[in-house]
Amino acid sequence: MRPLVVLGATGSIGRQALEVAARIDMPVEALAAHTPSTELAELVEQTGAEVVAVGGTDEERKEFADLVTRPVAFGEEAMVELSSRPGRIVLNGVVGAAGLRPTLAGLEAGNRVALANKESMVAGGHLVLEALQRGGGELLPVDSEHSALHQCLLGEHSDDVAGVILTASGGPFRGHDRASLATVGPAEALDHPTWDMGGRITVDSASLMNKGLEVIEAHHLFSIPFDRIRVVVHPQSIVHSAVEFVDGALKAHVGHPDMRIPIQYALTYPRRAANPGAPFTLPGFTLEFEEVDRATFPALDLAYAAGRAGGAAPAVLNAADEVAVAAFLEEKIEFLTITEVVARALETVGSVPAGTLEEVLSADREARRVAAEQVGSAMGYA
Ligand code: MG
Repeated sequence: MRPLVVLGATGSIGRQALEVAARIDMPVEALAAHTPSTELAELVEQTGAEVVAVGGTDEERKEFADLVTRPVAFGEEAMVELSSRPGRIVLNGVVGAAGLRPTLAGLEAGNRVALANKESMVAGGHLVLEALQRGGGELLPVDSEHSALHQCLLGEHSDDVAGVILTASGGPFRGHDRASLATVGPAEALDHPTWDMGGRITVDSASLMNKGLEVIEAHHLFSIPFDRIRVVVHPQSIVHSAVEFVDGALKAHVGHPDMRIPIQYALTYPRRAANPGAPFTLPGFTLEFEEVDRATFPALDLAYAAGRAGGAAPAVLNAADEVAVAAFLEEKIEFLTITEVVARALETVGSVPAGTLEEVLSADREARRVAAEQVGSAMGYA
């Protein structure tokens, strides 16, 4: 088995990936995390990782180096270096656009990248596909919807695919109208009905921005035009997504909403390993499907528009959303303001070019600056 490198090791996906690796006896070679912590130090010792890369301040890093018996490398470059060691499987569980460079480095080196960092595809989709082609690596989606689509598309001819359906749980605010969302706070947005995930993605699930990012991700991963990607609300999160074929057949991927399953599949593909959770049987489940309330959740159409516009627009969408969600979690702005901040950033910087990594990163920075300004004015002291 190829050694595993886990980026974003202390996050929800990173932790579950380490659990899966232990279960299937996959050696863990390296861990990386944004912030040095005792939690990360414990994971290093538990997994027997040979090396660890962390961000953080000089002070934090010094303290961290004293906690672990392994070599510690510092900063973003260190994470990129871990990803670019050939012959590895790189699980990219970094949150946000910071995951793009390690994704590119891993693919350039010919590695398998198990991608949970959807922002890589959103912000730099064409760069990722170019790196995949140049390096001859493999790109396996970890996002449950995209893992489902990947599996439904196996063995099929692209000409026979009529479209794809991404399912959305609808999040904690399904059935609410816009007016009732004016006063919701972080605690309510973080109360996701079916999936147990990190903070940003949970808030994005509540606004449906997460589904919008996933539409863009699916567009790049499977070369599907935007008008053939549909989103359907499915509150039980049992159908993880589906592919529609020209003959009217629909192939869906069904199972428990348990992220360990798509994570494990991305590590063991093309084989499968034993179920990490409870067996799944159909009796007892009632499946419901409904249209998205697009007026209440405008983030979805905003993402479609950014995806269709192309260029830097998807990178701007993502970066502005990262800033706005962080501000919402700090109770600086209201829930409905998140999408307004993103819309304003798109108007302001959405059409700058994004042909190269430098241009993508520059659009990302500019979007963050504009979004921070918008947060400031929404707070009333701009
Ligand atoms: Mg998902």
